Amino acid sequence: MRYISVITNGTDVSEQTKEVLIEKFEKHGFTVLEQCSVDSELLVCIGGDGALLQAVHKYDFPSIPIVGVNTGHLGFFQEIAPDEPGMPDTFIQEYKEGRYRLQPLNTVQAVVTTQNGKQEILRGLNEIVIRGSHSYSVHLDISIGDSPIEKFSGDGILVATSAGSTAYNYSLGGSIVDPRIKLLQVTPIAPMNTTAYRSFTSSILLPSELSLGIVPETGKGNYIFLLNDGIEHAYAHVQEIKIEFSETVINLIRFESYDFWDKVKTKFL
Ligand code: NAP
Repeated sequence: MRYISVITNGTDVSEQTKEVLIEKFEKHGFTVLEQCSVDSELLVCIGGDGALLQAVHKYDFPSIPIVGVNTGHLGFFQEIAPDEPGMPDTFIQEYKEGRYRLQPLNTVQAVVTTQNGKQEILRGLNEIVIRGSHSYSVHLDISIGDSPIEKFSGDGILVATSAGSTAYNYSLGGSIVDPRIKLLQVTPIAPMNTTAYRSFTSSILLPSELSLGIVPETGKGNYIFLLNDGIEHAYAHVQEIKIEFSETVINLIRFESYDFWDKVKTKFL
């Protein structure tokens, strides 16, 4: 028995697409489950990039291949447009014949240590964002590896994976990075660069083996907010945050026609 998991973001068009896909998969001899399961060989995620991000977090960065079906969103992670001629039959046929490759996407993780010594790890496929509460600016002592670099002052900083470089990072003026490159991109959010405060104003790129150390200055609001792919976590009394490249990957299915730079061109230009 071959199991396929199919999940959606719940919109009408995604639910309709799901019904069509289930029927087709069953005709091809697969058994469809409507949740991610250890028995499944493939996770089909219907919606947009946001739906794929949600699924990745809900199922804790599953190791099975994932394919995204785009139902009217930006769909940067998504591989299949259901209204393209021949879809979804072509996709199921190519999948059955193994005519695809896996695109491994690395993740980023933040290890948060609070003053009572508790540690928590947050993982992101796109990025980790650090910012203050109630729109207060943050003041962060930043080190790279063992070297203290600067006291950053501004709205916050964002640390993007290569795959996440086209998301929030891009809106902040960060660079688009080919996902085959293993790095982290640190992009400032509204940095203050005056005679009172000195902060870097452009993105910096870190090799995968270097981590970023952050010690927040306690100030107004007392809380530091961390967001992994937009999921917000509030921390009081943070001692240190370490942000590092993670070898945890998700594997996206890409068919023969996939080309990252072609996708960039069609989605952004
Ligand atoms: P959202 O605010 O509803 O959607 C943000 C937009 O980002 C959507 O159009 C989404 O595509 C797109 N997106 C997500 N990942 C992408 C990627 N890797 N490359 C290109 N575009 C991508 O939030 P959401 O859907 O829950 O997604 C969370 C993500 O939103 C965060 O990880 C962050 O990167 C992004 N975000 C962006 C901004 C900004 O650009 N100013 C601000 C906050 C958060 P779909 O339309 O296909 O879903």
